[in-house]
Amino acid sequence: MSDPRVIVALDFASAQQALAFAARVTPQSCRLKVGKELFTAAGPALVETLTQNGFDIFLDLKFHDIPNTVAGACKAAAQLGVWMLNVHVLGGRAMLEAARDAVAGSGGRRPQLIGVTLLTSMSADDMRDVGMEGAPAAAVLRLARLAQSSGLDGVVCSAQEAALLRREGGPEFCLVTPGIRPTQSARDDQQRVMTPAEAVAAGADYLVIGRPVTQAPDPVAALGAINREIAGVDQGA
Ligand code: C5P
Repeated sequence: MSDPRVIVALDFASAQQALAFAARVTPQSCRLKVGKELFTAAGPALVETLTQNGFDIFLDLKFHDIPNTVAGACKAAAQLGVWMLNVHVLGGRAMLEAARDAVAGSGGRRPQLIGVTLLTSMSADDMRDVGMEGAPAAAVLRLARLAQSSGLDGVVCSAQEAALLRREGGPEFCLVTPGIRPTQSARDDQQRVMTPAEAVAAGADYLVIGRPVTQAPDPVAALGAINREIAGVDQGA
């Protein structure tokens, strides 16, 4: 497999744990996501090491600041050689366009620039508390449209939103979906889950999967089973 759809969330507390996991899997079987916890603990050196080992890295730092600051952060991430990075769409059009321009002008391989619409932890009550009216689903759609018209490559979305956003965004709009649970595994703290096959059938391009792989008794076998399940959908498409 040359273009793995699974992005394993390296939700570990140290570089040592992350590298031990990465030593068990291959860049052909998965991409890797480095988020706030691991990046704060281990820094850019870990991202460089994983990249040198051949892995595509999704740097999940969800930048949200004034346009100039976000542009600088995106440029630094691009220079680090990451494959994908993300920003909060709530930062507004000027910030999104500054991020887009920063990755475009970074030289080398341009990273995929992905928007975070509404955090899935936000309820309608939480939205009202911060002055946002309407249903979460409407906000997700509005923010996804803003991301696309500002030149972002795609958005993070729940698999439940994928079919609608695929229709709205067209075939090239990149959809990255967490909240995936293989049929047999525990839901952990995820409320609304889909299986890998369901998410791909709904239009997801990439699946962010953490604990079902990282905490599995045999992570390599768990990842292999997921990849086989997805391959079945792709071949049927
Ligand atoms: O272990 P699990 O598969 O639940 O991990 C999912 C990953 O996706 C975590 O890194 C989590 O932070 C991230 N994520 C999520 N839900 C979102 C956005 C990101 O679970 N809405």
